[in-house]
Amino acid sequence: MDIALLKALSEADAIAASEQEVREILLREADALGKEVQFDGLGSVLIRLNESTGPKVMVCAHMDEVGFMVRSISREGAIDVIPIGNVRMTARELQPVRITTRHGVKINGLLDGERQGNEVAKLRVDIGACSADEVAEVGVEPGDRVTFATPFCELPHHRLMGKAFDDRLGCYLLISLLRELHQTPLNAEVWLVASSSEEVGLRGGQTATRKLNPDLALVLDTACWGKNFDYGCDNHRQIGEGPMLVMYDKTLIAPPRLTAWVEDTAARHAISLQRDMFSNGGTDGGAVHLSGTGIPTVVLGPPTRHGHCAASIADAGDISLTHQLLVALLHDMNAKTVSHLTDFRC
Ligand SMILES: [Zn+2]
Repeated sequence: MDIALLKALSEADAIAASEQEVREILLREADALGKEVQFDGLGSVLIRLNESTGPKVMVCAHMDEVGFMVRSISREGAIDVIPIGNVRMTARELQPVRITTRHGVKINGLLDGERQGNEVAKLRVDIGACSADEVAEVGVEPGDRVTFATPFCELPHHRLMGKAFDDRLGCYLLISLLRELHQTPLNAEVWLVASSSEEVGLRGGQTATRKLNPDLALVLDTACWGKNFDYGCDNHRQIGEGPMLVMYDKTLIAPPRLTAWVEDTAARHAISLQRDMFSNGGTDGGAVHLSGTGIPTVVLGPPTRHGHCAASIADAGDISLTHQLLVALLHDMNAKTVSHLTDFRC
C-alpha cells in the first residue's frame, strides 16, 4: 500500500463543491501518466484509463467528505457553522476542526454545539478570537469550509485511522487502479470517476454519469456498522473480513447477475466478500444506475469502523483486497459480460 498517498488523501480538506485539494491529487496522477481528463460541470474528475472499442465502464468514488460551512461570525468572535452532509450528532461536540479560508489559509479551532434532545444544534467554532475583527483579520468569512482536524496515523495490525475515509478510500482505489492498469490492454474502455458532492445528495454521480453514459458502473464507497464491535451475523462491515459487496440499499438493488459476476470473480481469486445491505442511506450508485435508460451498477468497497465523524478505522488488507478484486473485474470485463447483464430474454 502507498500509505503516503492515503495520508495525503485523508488529510486533504474537501466538503461538497469545494473538492480542489482532492482533485489536485487525482490530476497529478493522471497528468503524470498522460491520461485524458474531463470534468462535468460540478467538478467531478473523469480520467480515461485506456483506449478500447469494448463497452464503457465507469469506476466511481466520491471526493467530498462530511463537514461544515461558516455561516456567520458573532460580535464576540464565535464562528457559526452549518453541517454539510450528515455529520453524526456526537461528532458535533468538542471536536478539533480546521477552517480553510477562500485564500487557502488553514485556521485551527474547536467545534461545539448545544444538545437539544437527540440533536446537537447551534454549532460554533472557537478559534480563540475575542471579536469579529479578530476573526476577520485571519480571513475567515461566511462560506468558508470546515473539516475535522484529524491527523492520519497507522495503528497496530495493519489498521489505519484518519478522517474522510468515506470516500477517500475510494479515491485511493481509483489511483491504485490507474497506477496498476494504465498500460494494460483491456477489453473495456474504463473511466475512473471522482465525483463531486455525494454527501449532500449524490450530485456529481448524476452529472458525471450523464457526461460519460457508461454501459456499466462500479461504485466504490465505504460504510461502518452501527455497533462497531458487533461481530454478529448481521454485521457485514467487519474490518479485516474483505470487501463489502452491497446487495441492497434504499436507492439501489444491484442486479443479481452483476452481483453473481462479482462473487464468481472474487471466488476465483480467493477474495472473501462480505455481502452487505444498507438499512440507511445510499451511495452514488443510487443516482448512477438511473442515468439515461438505466445502467447496471454495483457498489463495492472496504468496510470501516466509525463513519461520518472525526475519524474512521480501516484495515489495509481490506483495501488491498478491494483493489485486487477491481483489477480482476476489469480484466474480465468485455462485450459479452455487458450483453449478458442487459439481455433480459435469457
Ligand atoms: Zn460515501
